[in-house]
Amino acid sequence: MNVNQSAPPVPPFGRPQPVYPGYHQSNNYGGQPGSTVPPTPYSTYNGPVPGYQQTPPGVSRAPPPSGAPPGSTTQAPCGQAAYGQFDQGDVQNGPSSTVQMQRFPGSQTFGSAPVAPVVSQPAVLQPYGPPPTSAQVTAQLAGMQISGAVAPAPPSSGLGYGPPTSMASASGSFLNSGLYGSYPQGQASPLSQAQGHPGTQPAQRSAPPQASSLIPPTPGGPRMPSMTGPLLPGQGFGGPPVNQPNHVSSPPQTLLPGNQMNRPPGPPPSMHSSPQPGYQLQQNGSFGPAQGPQPNYGSSYPGAPNFGSQPGPPQPLPPKRLDPDAIPSPIQVIEDDRNNRGSEPFVTGVRGQVPPLVTTNFLVKDQGNASPRYIRCTSYNIPCTSDMAKQAQVPLAAVIKPLARLPPEEASLYVVDHGESGPLRCNRCKAYMCPFMQFIEGGRRFQCCFCSCVNDVPPQYFQHLDHTGKRVDAYDRPELSLGSYEFLATVDYCKNNKFPSPPAFIFMIDVSYNAIRSGLVKLLCEELKSLLDFLPRDGGAEESAIRVGFVTYNKVLHFYNVKSSLAQPQMMVVSDVADMFVPLLDGFLVNVNESRAVITSLLDQIPEMFVDTRETETVFAPVIQAGMEALKAAECAGKLFLFHTSLPIAEAPGKLKNRDDRKLINTDKEKTLFQPQTGAYQTLAKECVAQGCCVDLFLFPNQYVDVATLSVVPQLTGGSVYKYACFQVENDQERFLSDLRRDVQKVIGFDAVMRVRTSTGIRAVDFFGAFYMSNTTDVELAGLDGEKTVTVEFKHDDRLNEENGALLQCALLYTSCAGQRRLRIHNLSLNCCTQLADLYRNCETDTLINYMAKFAYRGVLNSPLKTVRDTLIAQCAQILACYRKNCASPSSAGQLILPECMKLLPVYLNCVLKSDVLQPGAEVTTDDRAYVRQLVTSMDVAETNVFFYPRLLPLTKSPIENATEPPAVRASEERLCNGDIYLLENGLNLFLWVGASVQQGVVQSLFCVSSFSQITSGLNVLPVLDNPLSKKVRGLIDNLRAQRSRYMKLIVVKQEDKLEMLFKHFLVEDKSLNGGASYVDFLCHMHKEIRQLLS
Ligand SMILES: [Zn+2]
Repeated sequence: MNVNQSAPPVPPFGRPQPVYPGYHQSNNYGGQPGSTVPPTPYSTYNGPVPGYQQTPPGVSRAPPPSGAPPGSTTQAPCGQAAYGQFDQGDVQNGPSSTVQMQRFPGSQTFGSAPVAPVVSQPAVLQPYGPPPTSAQVTAQLAGMQISGAVAPAPPSSGLGYGPPTSMASASGSFLNSGLYGSYPQGQASPLSQAQGHPGTQPAQRSAPPQASSLIPPTPGGPRMPSMTGPLLPGQGFGGPPVNQPNHVSSPPQTLLPGNQMNRPPGPPPSMHSSPQPGYQLQQNGSFGPAQGPQPNYGSSYPGAPNFGSQPGPPQPLPPKRLDPDAIPSPIQVIEDDRNNRGSEPFVTGVRGQVPPLVTTNFLVKDQGNASPRYIRCTSYNIPCTSDMAKQAQVPLAAVIKPLARLPPEEASLYVVDHGESGPLRCNRCKAYMCPFMQFIEGGRRFQCCFCSCVNDVPPQYFQHLDHTGKRVDAYDRPELSLGSYEFLATVDYCKNNKFPSPPAFIFMIDVSYNAIRSGLVKLLCEELKSLLDFLPRDGGAEESAIRVGFVTYNKVLHFYNVKSSLAQPQMMVVSDVADMFVPLLDGFLVNVNESRAVITSLLDQIPEMFVDTRETETVFAPVIQAGMEALKAAECAGKLFLFHTSLPIAEAPGKLKNRDDRKLINTDKEKTLFQPQTGAYQTLAKECVAQGCCVDLFLFPNQYVDVATLSVVPQLTGGSVYKYACFQVENDQERFLSDLRRDVQKVIGFDAVMRVRTSTGIRAVDFFGAFYMSNTTDVELAGLDGEKTVTVEFKHDDRLNEENGALLQCALLYTSCAGQRRLRIHNLSLNCCTQLADLYRNCETDTLINYMAKFAYRGVLNSPLKTVRDTLIAQCAQILACYRKNCASPSSAGQLILPECMKLLPVYLNCVLKSDVLQPGAEVTTDDRAYVRQLVTSMDVAETNVFFYPRLLPLTKSPIENATEPPAVRASEERLCNGDIYLLENGLNLFLWVGASVQQGVVQSLFCVSSFSQITSGLNVLPVLDNPLSKKVRGLIDNLRAQRSRYMKLIVVKQEDKLEMLFKHFLVEDKSLNGGASYVDFLCHMHKEIRQLLS
């Protein structure tokens, strides 16, 4: 395996990168890309302006002291103890303190016979069991007094709201709920059928002028008091349904009884009409002129021209169910945002601007506020008072990705060096100099924008003000004109007042029976030989400063001396795992280039040494302890890469037992499945954080390994967990190696502390992510990479005012890959409002969902899952009810009115509610749930967006020549056409679904077989064929993978094949087999909740 063939790195911005920067990557964060000359505004930085310079070529300070050279750290004071210990251990720890490499005795047997790996499972994912009954949803709906009887009409989105025979009879209760059924396989897509029902009227025309309603007012329409069914987008109480055309012609459409649409009088506008005047949003321009309040709901109605106006014949049995096309479509919202906001750069100069959606590709120009790549907020307009905030229940939160990578088109951050005096800060609140600080008294003082304290300007920083009160050098200084920048930290910002040494990477490899047998150890060692050449560097550096070390283990640990002067590596065994120490310092952590021959020899020998092992038991905590002690002895921060296969049952600290118990699901004790089974790992994690020791864990389990406990240390140290169930080299090597390469190479900061300061009136009160906190304000991160986010929640502690707005400043102190201590500053200014409508007009639903998912996923540790789900639903209902009550124009109580910016809140929230963590299917393992739970904890907004609402792309609809990604369709079975092929991805999983009626030519072109029946279900790789379709599909798959931070393994699923159940789990608009509501159902339920709050 040549690393140079590795998958492209993830372009963090949802945009395929044309070129794989690969190992020559300029680390966009931290360092400056060596060759990139920052664009214009700061070209003057190269000039004589004293005090800071443009890095990297000109880092004025010498590279930080690189500390002791590799291997020389034995003089370290804190290493002494351990070393001394080793001197004794040399004797007591027996087998050999120094041995030449040799085959590990295969004869050691430890009782238990080797466990054969389970190989029968297809992949990480498993087919789901038989569908449970639909009782839950039925009951839910029955309780909603949905008017109308159920008729055995073909249900569409898995729901069979029956068509009442007439409006009059529709006032009855919900009947015959047993007639639910799934949409028949093979039936034509509902989309292909006429759906010109008035109920499908695009809401843009009917929205009331507050620009946010989905519901048209129903002027003059007869009210049906008995109809309590929810009204949905574009629906209002209307005339007798018998007068509505097209009911019969659209059997699959769902329309809630009683929700007949009444278009406002007048001729039906065209489907794509532009928004009516008066509907324009007033959102600081952030929505762009083109975006109407209700864009294009109706765009998919073939029957549109007819609609409403055509006096169709009286329809005897009009099906009155909620039309899926009439409810807000994620696809449409995403498309509209792309069209409206994808072409212009997002300029950050204006306070409180809502950025484009995460699904839109856009460039950012920093003009004083941090890019949305670094910070996104749930709302960009904060209520002035806590009372208002409480009323709205809209969480005020920011999702911060401090080290986010930038696309190549955007300049990386400037590094400002204030010399020995260090960064300029407010004396009182310690906020860092930023564009919002107010210079006064001719420039001699500045007033802090966070705490109002007036500070003296140091003489060397003095500058005159212009007539507007602005410093004349404002645009020459990043810290006075940009939202994001870095400061070089002085020694005051370093541990023990000493500049840090370059970090180290320690590879710790499980060599027990399972690891050897699966081929993992051989594969890994082979890969490392070349991968070590691509350790992360600060921008411009020729060689990585990172040192490496190696440990193997089963129930004992083997350390390796790979000192460059040795002819062969030496192994030292530590069997006293209860009292872990590092048996060697000199020669353990080495420079790759200096010790290359010895390292290569070691990596060649490791698989051979253990090839006959019978050892099945492993330890886990002592391994982390050993790595952490080694870093401590070397006085550096670093990262441990653990490759681990099994539940650590060997006698040692952190020993675990199998406590997986599926009977706990849906009980009050379910939460224990997510809790670690011992506190030992928290204690260990705390020590790791103190040392700046980040832990990345690669798991290769064949059975339960207790991810909830094993992931504690990675989680609290800012590390990552990867899981490859039933790992087999032939099936999984591409995925594992791709993840490993990316993980080893990614730029990372160490020993970091993040602090979020706010202007008076609000403060950060809660934090979500992979980190540790020893007090209430400082987020401590042993390691932090460009993918990890921290979600921060804010609460009021005083009144805000509209004039001043609200400010956030996120300061991250960290050690770069080269050992340089830096401060990264992100500033963001937000508006404040006295009108709730302003809050609702400036929200970002994707960010809200990120926050709500993290909140809920943390909640499962302490509360029954039902409580967690109910809390989410109640909060969502409260948010929407508050809007309805305070912001929407008066209208029928039966109407569901959603704020424009939150119209996807119900569909996305439903996806969170029915996710595997909150509502598991029968086949989702406890480990999978714990795994996903911790993954979501540090996801950014783009990742949670696609994770909860997967992307479904039809492949043969668009012309083959068209190289761009095809437009997505909604994640519902009824959108699937059996003559087409689809890709579905959610950032972790990737499916290729093949319809049963796909043209034979397509089958041949993609799979190189002559018929559908010959396609191998569960296939993981498409054959490489030289034809346009094959190239296009494989190219698309590569692109999707490149956009995500983890490699997505492909699974080919055939229509009506067993594996299809697995695939359908991701069709999140449909009812799920484990009882999760369909989108339509959930929207009805949400409406009911809102009505209760309003009544
Ligand atoms: Zn201050």
